[in-house]
Amino acid sequence: MAVALDKLARPVRDLRISVTDRCNFRCVYCMPKEVFGKQFEFLRREQLLTFEEIERLTRTFAGMGVEKQRITGGEPLVRRGVDQLVARLAPLPGINDVTLTTNGALLARMAPMLADAGLNRVTVSLDSLDDATFRAMNDVDFPVADVLEGIEAALATGLTPVKVNMVVKRGMNDGDVLAMAERFRGTGVILRFIEYMDVGATNGWRLDDVVPSAEIVNAIDSRWPLEPVDPAYRGEVAARYRYRDGEGEVGLISSVTQPFCHDCTRARLSAEGKLYTCLFATRGHDLRELVRSEISDAELDEKLRALWRVRDDRYSELRTQGTPVDLPKVEMSHIGG
Ligand code: SF4
Repeated sequence: MAVALDKLARPVRDLRISVTDRCNFRCVYCMPKEVFGKQFEFLRREQLLTFEEIERLTRTFAGMGVEKQRITGGEPLVRRGVDQLVARLAPLPGINDVTLTTNGALLARMAPMLADAGLNRVTVSLDSLDDATFRAMNDVDFPVADVLEGIEAALATGLTPVKVNMVVKRGMNDGDVLAMAERFRGTGVILRFIEYMDVGATNGWRLDDVVPSAEIVNAIDSRWPLEPVDPAYRGEVAARYRYRDGEGEVGLISSVTQPFCHDCTRARLSAEGKLYTCLFATRGHDLRELVRSEISDAELDEKLRALWRVRDDRYSELRTQGTPVDLPKVEMSHIGG
């Protein structure tokens, strides 16, 4: 199996599959209510890739070098039967890590069936422990206690290591950084801080609202000394730090101030079967038409390799350099983080 390389010699290692564009939250930095309200037309069932089609595409990507599979959304746990998809993907040759990113709202109930289906671990989005702030950020008045219960269920069912992602927005939840660090220190949960990003075209992003990762590291380090940890593999998204007192790790995902495009090994598949080669892409390549045609597996492999071969995305590096970038970008809720 020849590993597929793009124009910048980056392999494809990590396939992120959005299984729905729907979500039970309306997080203000991702799916603002004003845009994704009652009138918004979400994908209809027949437009979605079936689990068989997702399995076939994953098998083909595994033949190109993909080892890690992340199931995303919208909110993947609102897609009916998502555990059956996990059961299809987990045994695929070449795939050694099947994970899922969730807002945690349904995790307490679904963790056991996901673990039984073969899911390895989960990442939970949690932007604050303060109930009022959390409810304001998810904008559907959902209580933080239920998400914390979901994290406990994931730990109890062995979906570990559990990672928690906190998107930090200045003036909204930046005051909660130390409380989050304190809550997850010594628990085995890996807390990651994500710089607020200009994803899509609807969240009203401003650079002033970004809290640079360096500021977060300094704040934590002044309370609990940290030391950097080397990346475990090429393309690891988070810069890792461990507490010097042995109480665990934190991660920083710094797409704005420390872009990492040179090592980006991620491909994204939207729920209706479009391949996006960057989180900030403006268009996707229709794979649904391909998998619903008479194309053979060998032909499908060649088509996907041809798409990856011409990939030269490095949006974050260009943005940070101040180079004008293409617009409008796909919504993150459409392709997952
Ligand atoms: S901006 Fe695009 S190319 Fe850069 S790291 Fe993110 S997804 Fe990869």
